[in-house]
Amino acid sequence: MSIADSRERIVARDVLSGDVVAITIKEDRIVSLERETAGFRQVSDDRLPWIAPALCDIQVNGYGGHDFTAPDVSPEDVWAVAEKMFAAGVTRFLPTITTHSREVMIHAVRTIAQAVNEYPPLVDAIPGIHLEGPYISPEDGPRGAHPREHVRPPDWEEFCQLQEAAAGLIRLITLSPEYPEAVPFIETAVANGVIVAIGHTAATSRQLEEAVSAGAQLSTHLGNGCHLMLPRHPNYLWHQLADDRLWASFIFDGHHLPQDFMMVALRAKGIARSILISDVTALAGMPPGIYRTPLGEVEMLPEGRLVVAGQRQLLAGAAQPLVTGVVNAIRLTGCSVADAFRMASVNPRALLGLPPVVFQPGASPEFILLDVNPELVNDQLFPRSERTKKAALWSESGMVCMEEEPVLKIQKVYFQGERYPL
Ligand SMILES: [Zn+2]
Repeated sequence: MSIADSRERIVARDVLSGDVVAITIKEDRIVSLERETAGFRQVSDDRLPWIAPALCDIQVNGYGGHDFTAPDVSPEDVWAVAEKMFAAGVTRFLPTITTHSREVMIHAVRTIAQAVNEYPPLVDAIPGIHLEGPYISPEDGPRGAHPREHVRPPDWEEFCQLQEAAAGLIRLITLSPEYPEAVPFIETAVANGVIVAIGHTAATSRQLEEAVSAGAQLSTHLGNGCHLMLPRHPNYLWHQLADDRLWASFIFDGHHLPQDFMMVALRAKGIARSILISDVTALAGMPPGIYRTPLGEVEMLPEGRLVVAGQRQLLAGAAQPLVTGVVNAIRLTGCSVADAFRMASVNPRALLGLPPVVFQPGASPEFILLDVNPELVNDQLFPRSERTKKAALWSESGMVCMEEEPVLKIQKVYFQGERYPL
């Protein structure tokens, strides 16, 4: 429902500071803010909702049957995904176009630009497009599910065609620096205001070093899109984990990375350089069953694990919303609630150069109200110097965290004068 004409007072606990805040909203603006700097003391005594800055997801391939890289994707598809994102607490996201023919990729980016023109909320909601490929590794493993026939070396002229079709919206590109064309491409892209990420790569340490020196800033879904077997060292995982100039994005959906890797990767990168992504594909949000896709038959298992049909191990993409990554960061890595939200909201905005969400008079409300289970987060409210690996229940796949009780649940999302779910 619209909050444009109403006056609303919200009393909630700020996930980042622990303070109790009282916010009054009128005519789509925050008109007053009172803050009681209680910190996280006495959390278990109250039953206040929690308030968090809305999430920002830099990797969304589609949702609910709508695929951004589909040859016939329409502006209506883009809007349909956006509405699902808002309801899931994500108010800013980068539609992500994956490796395909030039024609299909041009159609995809043009359609997104068109959608931003046709649906006013998308001007803010889509601060850019993420191009994941086609300039990635052709090797099995690093290539992931990207079709080999469309993988190609970096080509600035082609990128300019795509950027023109996208009306300048391409903000992030994930590529592999294993090509001789990579360094000049990265330098030119960065000079033109495009953020360059390293991903789906089989690059050597030297190639990685040169890519970062040329301006690459991020490792895309570090730990995934890799060979099944790697030399113990050196290898591209160690190199990227160790390079403090690189931020890293992670899929903490409970299926893509084991707990050990999540804990070690966060220690190596630090919270400040870590970003959670959903990497959701078009099949996210669909009921369990077998689906025919351009990549073959895939199956959505009842626990939300998306696999190549006929087996349970080989993943066919991600299907969990970003908030699941927040929950898994809290439950499985021992990071604080505040840090989990930093990685899913504050940090991705900073990477994209977006202003941070503020709860202050004059600002447009852009936040999530949450039910947080105080018993489950009580010992995780403060960042700790030592983490203990927590006992988690694992499914037969060895990855899934079986939640007995939800750590947190989205109640309402406020964005651009609307309250979601509508
Ligand atoms: Zn990928």
